[in-house]
Amino acid sequence: MARLHFTSALLPSGWADDVQVVVTDGTITAVTPGVMSAAGDERHAIALPGLASLHSHAFQRGMAGLAELRGDTTATFWTWRETMYRFALAMTPDDVATVATLLYVEMLEQGFTRVGEFHYLHHDLDGKPYADIAEMAARIAQAADASGIALTLLPTFYAHGSFGGAAPHDGQRRFICTVDQFSALVAASRKAIAPLPGANIGIAPHSLRAVAPGELAAIIPLADGGPIHIHAAEQVREVEDCLAWSGRRPVEWLLEHAPVDHRWCLIHATHMTDVEVDSFARTGAVAGLCPVTEANLGDGTFPAREFLDAGGHFGVGTDSNVLVGVPDELRQLEYAQRLKRRERNVLSGGAGRSTGRTLFDHALAGGARALAQPTRGLTPGARADIVTLDAAHPSLAGRARDAVIDGWIFAAGSDAIDCVWAGGNKVVEGGRHRLRQSVRKRFNAAVRRLVA
Ligand SMILES: [Zn+2]
Repeated sequence: MARLHFTSALLPSGWADDVQVVVTDGTITAVTPGVMSAAGDERHAIALPGLASLHSHAFQRGMAGLAELRGDTTATFWTWRETMYRFALAMTPDDVATVATLLYVEMLEQGFTRVGEFHYLHHDLDGKPYADIAEMAARIAQAADASGIALTLLPTFYAHGSFGGAAPHDGQRRFICTVDQFSALVAASRKAIAPLPGANIGIAPHSLRAVAPGELAAIIPLADGGPIHIHAAEQVREVEDCLAWSGRRPVEWLLEHAPVDHRWCLIHATHMTDVEVDSFARTGAVAGLCPVTEANLGDGTFPAREFLDAGGHFGVGTDSNVLVGVPDELRQLEYAQRLKRRERNVLSGGAGRSTGRTLFDHALAGGARALAQPTRGLTPGARADIVTLDAAHPSLAGRARDAVIDGWIFAAGSDAIDCVWAGGNKVVEGGRHRLRQSVRKRFNAAVRRLVA
């Protein structure tokens, strides 16, 4: 058992002063505001709950910043994808474990305490399944275990190269499963994460490009009550191809043909009509927004204000992991809206409300919903995922309550986090994860080899 004491803490009911939090076996068992610290309490200034990065492709951390060179043709998502495929085709299970461990260490250092790993790099270099079909999933679980981050594993079903059941191309060979293989993969993945505290599992049909309607219907039961994530409407060309194939836009098609409800998370959903925005919001499904990656890839701007006005839920994900941080995602989300609408504080939710706080609350609730976490935040029964901020940081000086969150998201850069507890273990102290040095060394060696 551990007892923590915070001068100020963001609880589900709002900010509270002088809060004692008791952690037992990785879970918060008591939260008491308005008490002085007692002997044996570990004292900190400002506490927030950890957030989820609800959408990650861990292996892509290895190629972060490697696709920023313009080629002969227009640089688009599709040219970025060629670099990503080359990288994916070269990585061994050891490489994946190393890259994922570094990524999860960075996520924890930057305020993410749970990751939704949308995992599609399944097979051996030649495209044949490993002897254990969940070999790569086990490496993801190993990385989560080493770092301490909570894992929601989303094994991905990927079968086709484009709409209408087109054959996959050779660059996709490590991703491809039949429905039967995928069923075996999900069962083996379930076993791989079973020993991990706090872990759970769902499924991820990759996209309507990669999954035919009959396959989608066949794999949905494999979620077995867990979350279902799918990429949708990230790219204009994807919307055009979907229209040509079905006469429907991707989000429109899903809402008409799939049982989309609160268990579902539509990743990106960037390109929607007003009718799609309203219908999607009404399902209770989560929009999995990845603002930094969407900006990096030139995807477009999610209709965030319209979606929130319609009562929609969203969470954030780091997706390609080109840059990892809670403030980066939330700031980029708001800034894209400001640039589009030429006004400020677009997502604050109303007069006098803090934009940072509103974004944080949405991301906490939407992330928990999308990764099937019924209890969230600093409250009894929740996993003890706690982030403290450095009250001495210049961008937090003289701030209290919501102004602290605004200072962190909009002004503080990446060094405002002090400590992070993941499942009750203090894994980050003074802004540094205890594995930072050793895992950076291994990561750098692996990447030097992969880019050579
Ligand atoms: Zn993605």
